[in-house]
Amino acid sequence: MPTLSVVVPCYNESESLGETHRRLTAVCQTTGWDYELLYVDDGSKDPTWALMADLARNDPHVKAVKLSRNHGHQLALSAGLANCRGERVLIIDADLQDPPELLTDMMRLMDDGADVVYGQRSSRQGETKFKVWTASLFYGLIDRLSEVRIPRETGDFRLISRRVLNILLDMPERHRFIRGMIAWIGFRQVPLVYDRQARFAGQTKYPLKKMARFAADAVTAFSIKPLQFASLVGLAFAVVGLMLTVFAVISFLFFNAVPGWASTLAGISVIGSVQLFMLGIIGEYLGRLYEQSKGRPLYMIEQVVQTDGGASA
Ligand code: UDP
Ligand code: MG
Repeated sequence: MPTLSVVVPCYNESESLGETHRRLTAVCQTTGWDYELLYVDDGSKDPTWALMADLARNDPHVKAVKLSRNHGHQLALSAGLANCRGERVLIIDADLQDPPELLTDMMRLMDDGADVVYGQRSSRQGETKFKVWTASLFYGLIDRLSEVRIPRETGDFRLISRRVLNILLDMPERHRFIRGMIAWIGFRQVPLVYDRQARFAGQTKYPLKKMARFAADAVTAFSIKPLQFASLVGLAFAVVGLMLTVFAVISFLFFNAVPGWASTLAGISVIGSVQLFMLGIIGEYLGRLYEQSKGRPLYMIEQVVQTDGGASA
């Protein structure tokens, strides 16, 4: 029997964990697959780890992994992904905002040939206006900046195939925006639209500070446009600077401008735009150096067909 893995990063989720375990177990048992539930404790300060270890002692399907301290959602998830063995892997949060029962539909879509089935939210319950607004702002921004199309209104809730996971595990970058990295990998990725529920218990573990860092990781991991921005500003300033210089020269020749003003103004506008432009050029190189340093695979082969002396493979 093939194995299905479920990876659940948990930070202070002691109130939800029991119910999450119950619902995940129920749905996994309907799949007909062997399954493992991999819970990762991301340095929780509440009894999450004790509960998790207990679940692992009483249920052979559970593997509990404890990180040494709080590493953040994306790294906790990465730790779980690196330690699972399934042919298919479900990524889900511990707070039951994403209904585990959708696994059934995800498995079916994957039977039909998808490599990634990602949950796409048609609505969000129990979230503040501020969160919904900043999220849509963020997805608009990343959509504009990134060359990879990262679907909107999606989180990390998804089912992925082993071949996608293996490529993901081959990407050694430290600042991980996992939903973007999976979108970047390609193959057949299909959405599953659903209503996002309110948290089962507790508060969000993503305060504004973590959200901002997450957004910065996402933008910098998927776009070097901010680095190239200086060239654009430099070009714009060059035009303005040229006009200012013409204006200064005319004032100097035909009106009684203060001596020294025209040459100072012209100097400042030229030097300002040249500096910005040079910064932009540095940005181009720095950006390429950065892309290189991420060490992502150069390409991903989906299939090779070859015929060899009559025997086809
Ligand atoms: N999480 C984690 N480490 C953190 C923050 C969050 O492992 O530092 C987990 C958390 O327990 C949950 C998931 O990541 O299972 C998503 O967090 P949360 O539900 O708080 O985010 P939101 O749904 O509010 O965006
Ligand atoms: Mg949540």
